[in-house]
Amino acid sequence: MNERKQLVVIALDGVPFSLLKKMVAEGNMPHVGKLLKESALFKIDSVHPPISSVAWASFWTGAKPAEHGITGFIERDPGTLEWFVPNAKHLKKKTLLQLLSEVGKRVFSLNVPVTYPPTKVNGIVVSGFLGSDLAKGTYPPAIGSFLKAKGYRIDADVEAGKKDPDKFYHQLIEIMEKRFEMLRYFYENGPWDFFMGHIMETDRLHHFFWRYYEERVEPYSAYFFNFYQKLDSLLGQFFKQLPDDAPLLLLSDHGFTRLKYEVNLNRWLMENGYLYFKQAPPQNLKDLHEFTTAYSLYPGRIYLNLKGREKTGKVQAGIEYETICNELSAKLMQLKDPNGKPVVQKVVRGYEGYGLPKTLDHQIFVDPLQFKNIPDLLILPEEGYDFKGVLWAKKTFEQTMFNGTHTYNNAFLLTRKITPKNGVKDITDVFGLIKNFFEI
Ligand SMILES: [Zn+2]
Repeated sequence: MNERKQLVVIALDGVPFSLLKKMVAEGNMPHVGKLLKESALFKIDSVHPPISSVAWASFWTGAKPAEHGITGFIERDPGTLEWFVPNAKHLKKKTLLQLLSEVGKRVFSLNVPVTYPPTKVNGIVVSGFLGSDLAKGTYPPAIGSFLKAKGYRIDADVEAGKKDPDKFYHQLIEIMEKRFEMLRYFYENGPWDFFMGHIMETDRLHHFFWRYYEERVEPYSAYFFNFYQKLDSLLGQFFKQLPDDAPLLLLSDHGFTRLKYEVNLNRWLMENGYLYFKQAPPQNLKDLHEFTTAYSLYPGRIYLNLKGREKTGKVQAGIEYETICNELSAKLMQLKDPNGKPVVQKVVRGYEGYGLPKTLDHQIFVDPLQFKNIPDLLILPEEGYDFKGVLWAKKTFEQTMFNGTHTYNNAFLLTRKITPKNGVKDITDVFGLIKNFFEI
């Protein structure tokens, strides 16, 4: 009988490399500490923009966002200016789950972003937070009813988090416990070649509790540490089920830092004469006025109102387009927060930020009409600034209930019994590592 070559992957959304090391060093994560002794730990980058759906799509496909097609949480159809939420249907590349299924590997995936709607695989898929309905979010569909009966939930109620941090925290713990219970259950009911589980609660905790953790504001600082101790004990319980030296990956998709300000970019575009609406407040993008030169979608994506691409297009491709891109970039580089701190590290052309393949010579003129969904400009913020896409904000700079935000740097990858031969620079490279492991 052939011995099964199994790989287990646990994804901890938004856990920074530095935080993981610190939690281990301070004794909050003994099980991960033990694992670290027999593993290699890498600091890796995310992708631009460093948000979960874009980054996990790169993990699944080994492609940069320009190639896999997921460019943000929300997307617009330029011809109609309708909004939609891009999901697995919009991926332009095959995923690991599909590739492994094609070669007859048994796969299991629980809660990993960009698996909704689930496709047919050789195994089981339980979608993550882009699908809110368990019944439609699993393959095979019967798994949805099973999970529902077990009290499994896809995500915590973020709205509740804004109102009641205590309640939200306890919800996070409950949901995470149930997620691990299901991971243990399905692992036991294998066998699997590829087994992956994703924990979203880390990201959720960080958005609401990061400042309390950093500034040691009680009781929430204690909550933060308790959460990591709980996570470690759940991981420990799960690791116990695995063979002693089973090949294992642990990783995150982006780092985290204290949120200084949310930046309402559309407000700034309005105040600077680039953005106009037909009515106030606008209901959606369809209320864009034809006088508009540029508008923005979360996070920090700027689209020019380009003739021939956008429904209300007025900016001519060519000299006018180039001039506006350059002017906007220069102005944004000067943007300061209320404390006089710069908020933009760099403004890049969309195709550059989204990593178009190098076969395109970026020194020659790139026709923006070729790219429908890639923004014309992408803001790479200074750490701690989150460029929002709300259409109608009263101020450019705001502070809300959220106090943590994502970073491009400082994600992590832990590997045991699976060695990256060519190094790992960012989350996109993990795809190749897994493909090599299975020799596909
Ligand atoms: Zn997040």
